[in-house]
Amino acid sequence: MTDPLELEGWKFDNSYAQLPAALFTAARPVPVRQPGIVLLNRSLAAEIGLEADLLSGERGSAIFSGNAIPPGAEPIAQAYAGHQFGHFTNLGDGRAILLGEQITPGGQRVDIQLKGAGATAYSRRGDGRAALGPMLREFLISEAMHALGIPTTRSLAVVTTGERVRRETPLDGAILTRVAASHIRVGTFQYAAAVDDPSLVQALFDHAIKRHEPQLTGADDAVLRFLDAVMERQAALVARWMLVGFVHGVMNTDNMAISGESIDYGPCAFIDIYDPAMVFSSIDQQSRYAYGNQPTIAHWNLARLAESLLPLVPGTAEDAIEQFQGLVATFPERFQRHHLAGLKNKLGLFSVESGDADLAQGLLDWMLATRSDFTETFTELSLTAAAEPSSALPAGSDPQFDQWLSAWKARLGRQPQGALEVAGLMRQSNPVVIPRNHQVESALLAAQQGDLSRVHRLLEVLSTPFATTAANEPFRAGPPAGCGRYRTFCGT
Ligand code: AMP
Ligand code: MG
Repeated sequence: MTDPLELEGWKFDNSYAQLPAALFTAARPVPVRQPGIVLLNRSLAAEIGLEADLLSGERGSAIFSGNAIPPGAEPIAQAYAGHQFGHFTNLGDGRAILLGEQITPGGQRVDIQLKGAGATAYSRRGDGRAALGPMLREFLISEAMHALGIPTTRSLAVVTTGERVRRETPLDGAILTRVAASHIRVGTFQYAAAVDDPSLVQALFDHAIKRHEPQLTGADDAVLRFLDAVMERQAALVARWMLVGFVHGVMNTDNMAISGESIDYGPCAFIDIYDPAMVFSSIDQQSRYAYGNQPTIAHWNLARLAESLLPLVPGTAEDAIEQFQGLVATFPERFQRHHLAGLKNKLGLFSVESGDADLAQGLLDWMLATRSDFTETFTELSLTAAAEPSSALPAGSDPQFDQWLSAWKARLGRQPQGALEVAGLMRQSNPVVIPRNHQVESALLAAQQGDLSRVHRLLEVLSTPFATTAANEPFRAGPPAGCGRYRTFCGT
């Protein structure tokens, strides 16, 4: 007879737990009083080989709270360090426990991690717990990012714990199950390098290329090419963020994944009005992680990765430093390339002209000057291109905009693609709905009062962000007037 546990679909292989002991500590989730599953991502469960029907009730509550350990898991907390707002600190999973690596039916290896599962060896003075609001928030935003086509860690489940967590006020406790290509961070390499044992960096590096760059195994220049690949993914990722108005909010080096997935949704938010200086996090007082500063910070973080990899390069330190500096210096140009390509898609531009960057910048400048909504401006342009009469753009009333609009139309006229193709490209490049801060907040508020219907509705809407459907329509608008400045808080 088949073991009923086998039917759930767990297929763990725990390669991280085979690495040198300095990189992690064995950990057990601390049992919770009364686990109750509130969200289960059925399509993700299927994708990674799990049988959602068997994991939706009591058994799911037990597993996704850490009260029961799925067969084959070997739970650990990972060690890492990080520059937090520029200051180096030793960290580690203080409130997250990696159950292990699930091998999916497609042969992929993904980390299954419980966030908020209780104190670990790295908790410092923290309680190892998380509150319901922030865990639902990570679920909503990460799944929205996925639907936007942006690489991200995923959210499999949220359970409430039946316990309260003490923050400024007591809050309902919850645990999020996160699925990631890996949880190797820039800060993981910094941690290994800080131990002053080159074999540790080497072991981590070998593991990382096996998972993310297997084609580099055994190559003479594997280290440089690894750095190159990570840089390329980050340049593409940050460009994708910028193109949907996403502000990560806490781009510390421990919150940057080698895989190129967006990770650690803390005080993140989306801009409504276009403004490069936009900051939402209450603790980012120097605007280090402002919307428009994200490429600069990614570049800075990658320089920290390069430093951590230096011990692996054969030859003299000077040679290695020179090579690494040359490579790291290419980041701004890479970001620009991805960002411009994305802006061109948003404007329906197929061909190449030397004035394209200026044309795109002209629109951004106009948005900044007129405090225009970033997402809506592009949606309206999309509708204009599709010749839908409902466009609310201020044609005829704003000379600066009119001038830009004629330049754009003239530019469209100089490429072979017709209106249909232009509209098609724009439609698939400009989300109609994004997780607007005010919508996310009101859904979370209702959830904290026991009504999850708004979270479900928002998840539904955000699963088809490019569709101009009746269901999506009410979620297009920016915040109501007089909403005040949106603030996010850490510990989220
Ligand atoms: P984060 O801001 O979530 O990226 O976390 C930064 C560091 O603080 C990580 O090492 C976390 O594990 C740790 N941390 C955050 N919240 C808690 C908590 N409630 N208990 C223990 N450690 C925490
Ligand atoms: Mg973090």
